[in-house]
Amino acid sequence: MTLKICNTMSGEVELFKPRVKNKVTIYVCGPTVYDYSHIGHGKTYMSFDLITRYLEYKGYDVKYVVNITDIDDKIIKRANESGMDPLELAKKFEKTFHADMHALGIKDADVYPTVSGHIPEIIEIIQTLIKKGFAYVVDGDVYFTVSKVEDYGKLTNQTLDAIKSGARVGVDERKQNPADFALWKNSKVGEPRWSSPWGEGRPGWHIECSAMSTKYLGQQIDIHGGGRDLIFPHHENELAQSEAYSGKKPFTSYWLHTGFLTINGEKMSKSLGNFITIIDLLDKWDAEVFRLFILSTHYRKPVNFTQKTLKHQKQSLQRIYNTVDNLRLQIQNAQELETPDKMEEELQKQISRVKETLINAMDDDFNTPKALSEFYNLIKIGNKAIAAKMSKSTLTKVLNTIMEIAHVFGLLEKKREIKALPEEIQILIKERDMARNRKDWKKADEIRLKLKSMSIILEDKPEGTQWRYQE
Ligand code: AMP
Ligand code: ZN
Repeated sequence: MTLKICNTMSGEVELFKPRVKNKVTIYVCGPTVYDYSHIGHGKTYMSFDLITRYLEYKGYDVKYVVNITDIDDKIIKRANESGMDPLELAKKFEKTFHADMHALGIKDADVYPTVSGHIPEIIEIIQTLIKKGFAYVVDGDVYFTVSKVEDYGKLTNQTLDAIKSGARVGVDERKQNPADFALWKNSKVGEPRWSSPWGEGRPGWHIECSAMSTKYLGQQIDIHGGGRDLIFPHHENELAQSEAYSGKKPFTSYWLHTGFLTINGEKMSKSLGNFITIIDLLDKWDAEVFRLFILSTHYRKPVNFTQKTLKHQKQSLQRIYNTVDNLRLQIQNAQELETPDKMEEELQKQISRVKETLINAMDDDFNTPKALSEFYNLIKIGNKAIAAKMSKSTLTKVLNTIMEIAHVFGLLEKKREIKALPEEIQILIKERDMARNRKDWKKADEIRLKLKSMSIILEDKPEGTQWRYQE
């Protein structure tokens, strides 16, 4: 199956066709850096991490850009409250953002451009928009003229009239149309400022993404993403500006938006004060536990965060690691098959089938919950192969497939030292097996307790007894 992606613009799942064969350009709106990042940000950037990892896995050469909004009203407000320079405050939280992303195992984008580093590019676009009649200057501010764009509202499928009436509350009288938005703002006292043809000022919010995506990815990009709160007005406005600037070249082929991470059913956000920072999360939970949590819901859907769910994910992660550890151990001692064995042949075929189903799920708009359930099927197959003491080639095939997919998911990246079980423990496990076979439950329980005191936990499964180190 080939990759299909749900495009917010059409609301449909569409066949993915990049503009240039085998290459994908992707732009995701980055954070406004005025505070520590919370796990809602973590959800969005981890979702795009999974998407870019999968695109790379499919063989695409991916160019991925995430901007850093380091000039913004909220940054200025916070800086004034704390007596800091706004750009210094932004620099501090830009650094913590990167540290948080690394701690979550999120791969770096190719470029993380900042607004403050792209003022000339922004001014150039605004000048062109004014020249083309898409923008006007009022007292040092510059506004975009939405009514000049015939198809304004096409991303959200709204008419200009509907948008206009929505924007009417507290409207600035100097605007020609209530839905017009600022491209450049005259800076007030104490605000960061740059010289421009319209006086000293700073860029409005939306224009930065048109400028930075154009600079790093060209006037047309394959995928544009962000959280779903950005669809309107941010992406609608970016789209209008970019196409006005380029002369109607379709700006983005596929618009992807992530669902919110919620807490008690409400969007996690700084303004609601219901947030958990990534630092706090990682104090308690491993990054891969959070990754399993993110994988278990489709990127477009909301997901509610609870400690209970994370506890469940932690157990699942432990089971995955145990299987991988056991596979590695058993491979060290396993024999090669001399003659093909029907059961092994069947299991090997099953591995290929499960992998194919998993890939099909990812091809279907990155359906990670379905793909994850297939991944658990691979783990089950691994356990079966261990319990049946299968050959080196079967064990290796299942282990390699698990690791290949884990890499796409960004899981199992932790280095683990796989120690062979001491002989004494191996003997005890065998003795317990024998005791169980002769239904000597008392003896079997004694051995189980003895192993527990040595930090070895036994789990009796239909496919056989498995062991793991105690957490
Ligand atoms: P911000 O710094 O608020 O501009 O957010 C940066 C990115 O994180 C945007 O794409 C937001 O849509 C996304 N985001 C913010 N809060 C959440 C949340 N609770 N769940 C998912 N994504 C979020
Ligand atoms: Zn943006």
